[in-house]
Amino acid sequence: MEKFVTQLQRWYLENSRDLPFRKTREGYSVWVSEIMAQQTRIETMLPYYERWMSRWPTIRSLAEAQESDVLKMWEGLGYYNRARNLHHGAKMLVGEENGEFPTSYAKILKIPGIGPYTAAAIASIVYDEKVAAIDGNVSRVVSRLMKIEAEISSASAQVVVNDKMKEWIEGSIPHVFTQAMMELGALVCTPKSPDCDHCPVREHCLAYGDQTTGRYPIKKAKAKVPTEKYDCFIIQDDDGRIAVVADSDDGLMAGYYRFPVATQINRAALKDIERIEAQKHVFSHKIWETTYYRAKTEISFEPFSWVSEEELEALPLITAHRKFFKKTRQG
Ligand code: SF4
Repeated sequence: MEKFVTQLQRWYLENSRDLPFRKTREGYSVWVSEIMAQQTRIETMLPYYERWMSRWPTIRSLAEAQESDVLKMWEGLGYYNRARNLHHGAKMLVGEENGEFPTSYAKILKIPGIGPYTAAAIASIVYDEKVAAIDGNVSRVVSRLMKIEAEISSASAQVVVNDKMKEWIEGSIPHVFTQAMMELGALVCTPKSPDCDHCPVREHCLAYGDQTTGRYPIKKAKAKVPTEKYDCFIIQDDDGRIAVVADSDDGLMAGYYRFPVATQINRAALKDIERIEAQKHVFSHKIWETTYYRAKTEISFEPFSWVSEEELEALPLITAHRKFFKKTRQG
């Protein structure tokens, strides 16, 4: 039987998707692509990646950007700390490394927002360092290959995943192996229905061997995601300007504007209140059930910023509110 690593790498070299960030092994580009790809589908992040790299092609250019422009560019991608950390990281690298991307796993790990997985992914892809990049996707693949009977996030399961990945990367071409494992998890050994018939390594897969792939990875029962209810107001003053607020009680999405909610406004100052509709916004850790209202006011009261529709277009606005506002304009 051909070695697992050899088979996997050959499959990757012959079948991998033609993605723009794979055309380079330059540190900054790989860093941006890895951060954007976290929690985000490749098809979704690709246009963002292209726009980002054409606007800020170097660490130095990103470091010089305004935070509001960085957040605006990221609008719609979610997990906004990723954008802030890229920006802070670029500033740090200009201050401490003369704008150069660091050249080892240990140094890459010091960049804000980069954890062990991302540091290992970048170090192995850019510098062929033999450090294994292990995330949920890789853990899932290894759990099926090795039939790991422990709950996948448990220490004992992760020891097995780590040991196997270390063994495999030692005998690999790291930049090919790391991307091949990612690609296998993304295209073939997917969470719900692995395409075992087209899997390049199925002869090495213990779960495939006894047709138990559906059993792995073993997971804890999911905790129920809490629901929060809001009444949200799109308030226009007599000049047609709209109230937005930058502060939020929940600490989510700092730096992004949003429309005010009931607890932030004095309803007595509103007139012509009209309920528009209710919408559900599902995040990974909570659900917002938002009822949207339209209202008018004669007083442009504090603490809000009052902006024209054009200004609103240019501001970073939380995605849920942006989507709703666009819909009301179209309707
Ligand atoms: S054979 Fe199936 S379960 Fe096993 S690694 Fe391949 S896709 Fe995943």
